[in-house]
Amino acid sequence: MNAIIISIGTELTTGQSLDTNAPWLSERLTDLGLQVLTHITVSDDVTQIAEAFEQAMSHANLVVATGGLGPTPDDLSREALAIAIKEPLEIDDLALIQLKAFFLRLERPMPESNLCQAKRPRGCHMLPNPRGTAPGIRHSSDSKHFFLLPGVPSEMRAMFKQSIEPLASQLSSGARAARSRLLVFGISEARLSDMLNDLMTLGRNPSVGTSAADGVISIRIVARGENEAEAQNLLKNDVYEVKSRLGVAVFGEDEDSLASVTGRMLLDSGLTVATAESCTGGLIAKWLTDVPGSSGYFKEGFIVYQNSAKNARLGVPAGLIDRDGAVSESVARAMAEGCRAASTCDFSISTTGIAGPDGGCPPDKPIGLVYVGLAREGHTEVKRLILGDHLTRDQIRDRACKSALNMLRLWLIESR
Ligand code: ATP
Repeated sequence: MNAIIISIGTELTTGQSLDTNAPWLSERLTDLGLQVLTHITVSDDVTQIAEAFEQAMSHANLVVATGGLGPTPDDLSREALAIAIKEPLEIDDLALIQLKAFFLRLERPMPESNLCQAKRPRGCHMLPNPRGTAPGIRHSSDSKHFFLLPGVPSEMRAMFKQSIEPLASQLSSGARAARSRLLVFGISEARLSDMLNDLMTLGRNPSVGTSAADGVISIRIVARGENEAEAQNLLKNDVYEVKSRLGVAVFGEDEDSLASVTGRMLLDSGLTVATAESCTGGLIAKWLTDVPGSSGYFKEGFIVYQNSAKNARLGVPAGLIDRDGAVSESVARAMAEGCRAASTCDFSISTTGIAGPDGGCPPDKPIGLVYVGLAREGHTEVKRLILGDHLTRDQIRDRACKSALNMLRLWLIESR
């Protein structure tokens, strides 16, 4: 069984508003076992909307459209539906009573323009809207089902759960989808797709796809089964397979972040960390403390931006900074060791680098050069990152923080 989702509104086609309804509906319908064929976005143009409705109804078993049900002249979805199914609009008596009752409860007169919200094409059914004035409209014929829902996300979601979910379940005759998102850091998307090539074949079940954002690659796995148990089982096998191929490069799932995962590992092993940040300006400390419960492992953070602060707070020798420069392997090492000594933590992380857009001095010290230091008892490691001057200042800082947290994560895995 398949479905098409239609989003209506000129604010969407002009890019003024972001369409959040379509992805939400897509996830729900997929989980309920339907295959979502297309998302269509149409402006407030009655002819375009009617054409989209007609075409979608001819292609899919279930069509869900949102928006354009309000009382203003640019709300044209019900007129468009009337055109598409060639039925006249008429007042629904019950909807009119409910609309009047809504305004009565608010002790306000009902504006004349709201009257149109009690209209539906002949033969259609109204769907109650517990959260607003615009009822939804359902049209079913020849085992095809069309739903028109309000655009306001909270109203749309409530109506979907009440009026569409039971039918969608029935349409998919028990079939279900199960999904997972694995998060990867430290491997390029191209290399990753080589490693997962056979799993990513088009039409395979489960489907496996990747997308990259801010240095993190998400692997989406969607498994379809005749029932929930079968879908979950197929998903479990693929998650296991992907994790065994990629090993420690997979740092988490779904809403995890490098900071939350690393924090959880520190907490579990009763270890503590402190930070000494120059180019990242406290971002690692922020990310670590964004996670609730982080006081269990994060002790303190030094933002040592000027050379004098590196010396005064962490005891980095001034002569070392003069000799090698603030952005150097030796200074990152001294910062990490000084931070660990000052904080008496199990681990310390340091960053020093050139985030740009000015200040680079190629070839030795280009923009995007960052040294990340990691110290523990008796051992310090420094990693030299060449992040590239094609990245913005924010991106360089972001990647440096992620690399630093990932280094600590890998250390913690090794020491298990
Ligand atoms: P109303 O009765 O409030 O007028 P409606 O069904 O007519 O509802 P629209 O007028 O199209 O819906 O949109 C109302 C508001 O809902 C928009 O201003 C927008 O903020 C939000 N909205 C509409 N469509 C979407 C969408 N696809 N994704 C996210 N928000 C949306």
